[in-house]
Amino acid sequence: MTEEIKENIKDLYIGVGSNLNEPFVQIERAIEALSHLDNFDSMKISNFYESAPMGPQNQNNYINIVAMFKSGESPEVILSSLKDIESSMGRVKSSTRWSERIIDLDIIVYGDLTYESDILTIPHSNAYQRAFVLLPLIDITPDINIPNQGFAKDLINNCLYNDIKKIEKK
Ligand code: ADP
Ligand code: MG
Repeated sequence: MTEEIKENIKDLYIGVGSNLNEPFVQIERAIEALSHLDNFDSMKISNFYESAPMGPQNQNNYINIVAMFKSGESPEVILSSLKDIESSMGRVKSSTRWSERIIDLDIIVYGDLTYESDILTIPHSNAYQRAFVLLPLIDITPDINIPNQGFAKDLINNCLYNDIKKIEKK
C-alpha cells in the first residue's frame, strides 16, 4: 500500500439500531454484513444499549451499538453499501419519520472528515443529541471528538435523547 493511500484511511463509526424482529439478531446480522466492508480486520464493537424510541412512542425500544472499522472508501460509496445492507435485511421504506425499523445503519463519524451533500451529512447531524450514539462512541474511543460538534464525553452531559440503559452481558 502506498503512503498516499494510507493517508486516506480513516476510522469509520457506524451507528446500528433495530427495534423489530428480534433486534439482537438483527444487530448481529448487521455486524456480520459490516465486517465484509472492513478490509483491515479492524472492527471494534461497542457495548449494547437499549433506548426509548425518539419519534412515535407506539413502538418498541431500540437496541443500539456502534461499529468502528478502518476505511478508505468515499462517503457516497459507504452510504450506498449501508443502504444495500439495510435492503438485504428487509428494511421497508416508511414515510413516517423515526418509525420502527428492522435495521438502521448511519454514518456517525468518519475520522476528521466533514461532508455535506443533498443525501449525506458527516458527521451525522444529530449525533450530539443522542446518548445511544455518544455512549457507544465513547466505549470504542473514550476521547473521541465529533468534528463540528465536540467531544462525545462532554456532549453526553447535556444531550436531548438520554433515556438509555446499557445491557449487561450475562
Ligand atoms: P433516519 O436514520 O434519520 O431515521 P433513514 O435511515 O431513513 O432515516 O435515512 C434517511 C436518509 O438520511 C438516508 O437515505 C440518507 O440519504 C440520509 N443521511 C444523511 N446523512 C446520513 C448519515 N450520516 N448516515 C446515513 N444516512 C444519512
Ligand atoms: Mg438511517
